[in-house]
Amino acid sequence: MLTLSAATMGETGEFAFLSELLPKLAGGRGVLVGPGDDCAVVAVGTRRLLLTTDALVERVHFERRWMTPHQLGRRAYLVNASDIAAMGGRPRFCLLSAGVPASLPARELMQIERGVAAAAQETGAALVGGNLTRAARLFLSVTLIGDAPRRPARRDGARPGDFLFVTGALGEAALGLRRLRRDARATDPAARRFREPLPRLTAGALLVERRIASAMIDVSDGLLGDLAHVCAASGVGAEVSSSAVPRPPGVDAFDPALAFEGGDDYELLFTVRPRQLALLDRLRSKLGCAVTRIGRITPRATGVRVVDRDGRAHPVSARGHDHFGGPRRSPSRSRR
Ligand SMILES: [Mg+2]
Repeated sequence: MLTLSAATMGETGEFAFLSELLPKLAGGRGVLVGPGDDCAVVAVGTRRLLLTTDALVERVHFERRWMTPHQLGRRAYLVNASDIAAMGGRPRFCLLSAGVPASLPARELMQIERGVAAAAQETGAALVGGNLTRAARLFLSVTLIGDAPRRPARRDGARPGDFLFVTGALGEAALGLRRLRRDARATDPAARRFREPLPRLTAGALLVERRIASAMIDVSDGLLGDLAHVCAASGVGAEVSSSAVPRPPGVDAFDPALAFEGGDDYELLFTVRPRQLALLDRLRSKLGCAVTRIGRITPRATGVRVVDRDGRAHPVSARGHDHFGGPRRSPSRSRR
């Protein structure tokens, strides 16, 4: 049992803290989905809206030399758009709260703001306001409001027997992050992928509108970490086939574990009932990206397992990226 009053956040960890906090937050009038999913879902009059927020903090999430101010602004917006995609929604309005060191050139802040506004416009949304404050380090906190679909995808809809799918490929952004740490000006595809996430808005909306996804999450913390969030919310386990997980050749050559544990890909991880597989196959060409079957949902008792081609299980950690480096849930070191 945690003693939150005494422990620091570094000792407690992000996920342990949230597991204590979230049950204490009572729903209010119009709250359809409260905290704990990719977005909250609220009813306003006859409309249903998605609400999400995410911050980028200098030296926690990025170094200024890794990208242009415009790219940084785009990234701050796009990681939020990915959470809207994970519910099957459409971005509409965003706010930017920026904390800025006094030494930051004004033209750089202007480029950041224009990057947010440009990325918002490209996805059908508008930057409608925000806040500007002085801060010790640069931080950008975007709040994004989206149109909700009739039945937003949630993390808690997976059932044993569902198939597990992922869009695109995994591990490239984590590889890009490693390259940028060595060479801030790297221009290879992996570095570009880290700088510019591609929220899967078209795929997310279609998978939800056609009721293909029974549960969905965006892969921001790493495949195994985000799969663990789905499994915990749904009360299920999962078996992932290690050879089926799509990853670019550069990732395999560097470290295949990046595809399982690396964050920042902003692909969609979703589950599909067996009876919906044929519909998914018919719609593949309309999703705007590849989708790959990587495993199956199992009963909760199985836990989350990664198996190789011979059916041998690799020990995995069910831990996602914890901003405070909180305690591991499993003593075993993660492997593919
Ligand atoms: Mg998310």
